[in-house]
Amino acid sequence: MPLVTSKLHLLCAAFVLSLAASCSGSSQPAAAPATSSASAAAPEQQTAPPSLQVKPTESAPPADRTGGFDGEKAYEQVAKIVSFGPRPPESPAIHQVQDYLIAQLKSSGCEIDTDDFHASTPIGSVAMKNIIAKAPGTGQGIILLLTHYDTLSSVKNFVGAEDSASSTGLMLELARQLCTKKGPNAVWFAFVDGEESFVDWNKDNDHTYGSRELAARMGLSGELKRVKAVILADMIGQYKLRIPRQSNSTKWLVDLVWKTAARLGYSDIFVSSEVQTSDDHDSFLDRKVPAIDVIDLDDFITAGTWHTEKDTMDQISPRSIAIVGHVLLESVAELQTKFK
Ligand SMILES: [Zn+2]
Repeated sequence: MPLVTSKLHLLCAAFVLSLAASCSGSSQPAAAPATSSASAAAPEQQTAPPSLQVKPTESAPPADRTGGFDGEKAYEQVAKIVSFGPRPPESPAIHQVQDYLIAQLKSSGCEIDTDDFHASTPIGSVAMKNIIAKAPGTGQGIILLLTHYDTLSSVKNFVGAEDSASSTGLMLELARQLCTKKGPNAVWFAFVDGEESFVDWNKDNDHTYGSRELAARMGLSGELKRVKAVILADMIGQYKLRIPRQSNSTKWLVDLVWKTAARLGYSDIFVSSEVQTSDDHDSFLDRKVPAIDVIDLDDFITAGTWHTEKDTMDQISPRSIAIVGHVLLESVAELQTKFK
């Protein structure tokens, strides 16, 4: 959950949260793995989890029209991540997701670094894990791509197809594209845990545990000084996607990404309106590292879907993910040229 800080958005968020609280537990899990009484006798006949059965109403453009980024493959990754069920920090499901992410990233040829840490939260100490996949660079610079992969714990049956499986699937596909390529700068893909709050986003820094850990760790190691740009993606898979500029993101980096999107013909998705969102990129902005957030939060709030059990695979468009993937792939290329 990122938080929009304008007054109107706070009101919307409060409304959505109260709605979510009042309706939690009212129905069965939307995307929990399916079970059947026949499964013991004939496991090969088990029904696929619901998330893998949803048929999207839009398809992704062919990969050769999105710079090689395979939107269908990224969509399948989103469905797979959702199939594990709700994945709040320290849950059995998030441990399965962590194993899955590491296996996928290894098969894409990425070097993997993991950080197991304990976050001090309002509900006590919580075990978390950041996973960092690395593509090598010929120089010292680092381009850091970021997503969270945990889900909100306070809404029952919340599987977070948009928040946060969409950007996690996107980053898996970007890593598949880039991990075996060597550019002037290294490209790191950080899958961070614990973005969501446990009790109240607005109190006691109860949010963005994983990205704050990552930024602190990189600060101590000296790696943070090597980071040229941080691009966070969060909530980028919904139908009718419209991503506003962020007024609290680094302006030159917003300009670079939005100019790239315009060049590729996506100005209807990367729109010129501006909002301010509190999210994982703040952990890097706070340490003076150029960072942006690529997110469409408002439309999900308006639709009444944000942080509810309606955040399921039927909200996700392969086309939307493909377009954001195309833009980020080309933006990384632009950054490689800018910092070569
Ligand atoms: Zn969220």
